[in-house]
Amino acid sequence: MKQGYGLPVFPGVAIGNAVVYRKAQRKTAVFSGDFAIEQAKFDDACKEAKEQLSKIYEKAKEELGEEQAAIVEVQMLMLDDLDYLESVASEIASGVAAATAALECGEMMAQVFANLDDEYMRGRAADIRDVSQRVANILCCTDGFSLPDGYFILVAEDLAPSETIQLPRERILAFVTQKGSSSSHTAILARTLNIPSLVQSDICLDEVSKCDVFAVDGFTGNWYIDPDEDTLSALKKKQAEVQVDKEALEVYRGKKSITKTGKEVLLCANIGCPKDAEAAVAGDAQGIGLMRSEFLYLGRDNLPTEEELFEAYKKVAEIMGDKPVVIRTLDIGADKQVSYMGLDKEENPALGLRGLRICLTREDIFRPQLRAIYRASAYGNLNIMFPMVASVWELQESKALCDEIRKELQSEGIPTKDVPIGVMIETPAAAVLAHELAKEAAFFSVGTNDLTQYTLAVDRQNAKLDKFYDPYHPAITALLSHIAKAANEAGIWAGICGELGADAKMTEKFLQMGYTELSMAPGRILETRKLICESEV
Ligand code: PEP
Ligand code: MG
Repeated sequence: MKQGYGLPVFPGVAIGNAVVYRKAQRKTAVFSGDFAIEQAKFDDACKEAKEQLSKIYEKAKEELGEEQAAIVEVQMLMLDDLDYLESVASEIASGVAAATAALECGEMMAQVFANLDDEYMRGRAADIRDVSQRVANILCCTDGFSLPDGYFILVAEDLAPSETIQLPRERILAFVTQKGSSSSHTAILARTLNIPSLVQSDICLDEVSKCDVFAVDGFTGNWYIDPDEDTLSALKKKQAEVQVDKEALEVYRGKKSITKTGKEVLLCANIGCPKDAEAAVAGDAQGIGLMRSEFLYLGRDNLPTEEELFEAYKKVAEIMGDKPVVIRTLDIGADKQVSYMGLDKEENPALGLRGLRICLTREDIFRPQLRAIYRASAYGNLNIMFPMVASVWELQESKALCDEIRKELQSEGIPTKDVPIGVMIETPAAAVLAHELAKEAAFFSVGTNDLTQYTLAVDRQNAKLDKFYDPYHPAITALLSHIAKAANEAGIWAGICGELGADAKMTEKFLQMGYTELSMAPGRILETRKLICESEV
């Protein structure tokens, strides 16, 4: 047995197979000097790309429906297209490396489609680029990521949101990373999935990759490689106790979240994709308080289309029925990066072009998202929330665009509903200006993760700063009180959707301040409801 320690970010016990995730190491495309070898490499890469696409097709069919999945099917067909295959073969025969040939021929073909009159066919250019990029990626990577069947514990140096989105979440028992902070999006994902998770652990990837049994204790922060019999039975006992505690919470299912003195709160769930809405229902959420819609943009090589976004929002709206769903518009930037938007590399991305700032400078990105939300509004109870607002004009400009889009859809005969528009309060400027913003907003939801980062000037991604990242800091508490007061005075609701929303130490304080909604990982709802129902506040 070998044991070590990590910083626990979600409790629980997991015992199972460890899978080590290593980032792919990229090789540059170099012609090997042998035409036959280069051609064989290309043929193998096409085969691998088809296998990848067929898995993506199955996943997309399940999560987004057959119509959306058809896009992937078209991509698979391209890998059998004779024109494409012959032009790659002829480039390789002229001494071009397989990866370069795959990309260049893909681009030539994409250009042909991009110049067609038909709008649908023009849209296929992006799909073609996507496929040829996939083939090139396979050719340029040495160390892929293959997963075993069944459940496993994921161990990695670090995980970016764009990587976690591609993982088969339902099969992951726990996360253990060497890096990462407790407020990183990997930690947030672990909480959403309700699985134990350790960050900043002292684990050696080579050692764990050779072990038979791996175990994680998300209460103490300990990890174990091949635990001995005593340790294993103690962990199993703990696991059984967790299950008993979970079952005891079931009496709160379907109940109101109301204190003994009659203060009522709506307990909602934070989600990242339509599938998470099912977890929200299973967790007895009274709505979705935060849909991190940027997760629909991560882990892919091109912008999602309006149609894809519409299907995703519609699915969430339908799953939640008449319960409120707050969709936060795209919050790309900082740690959530995508290459295909062509954004410049920034020195200081957390203070850079992120969230609403991208949307207000790139209508080509913002418009399809807003159209998709308004179209999906007809199927449920949707709300829009803008992230990273710092000034009143940003809200006004965004609202004006929403207005324009709703009218545009009406003129196209597409049904929409009224969609309340709220502000995510996560910059100190927005907190200070809460009274002004409240005149323009239908609600506030406080993003305590970023509000802490920006108020205390502490990078939430930097694990070395965890000691200084203090969401209980009096400056944050003062801002939180100020925000709730402004909302109450203006007659709009205020909620918390940052990680503090599920913090038992803060629940009563939030109620006293005047917050009427708390949004959190689905697995935390029943325990928070128990706390509220037992409270005298
Ligand atoms: C927050 O900042 O508190 C928040 C909920 O948004 P995210 O964690 O996605 O930045
Ligand atoms: Mg935020």
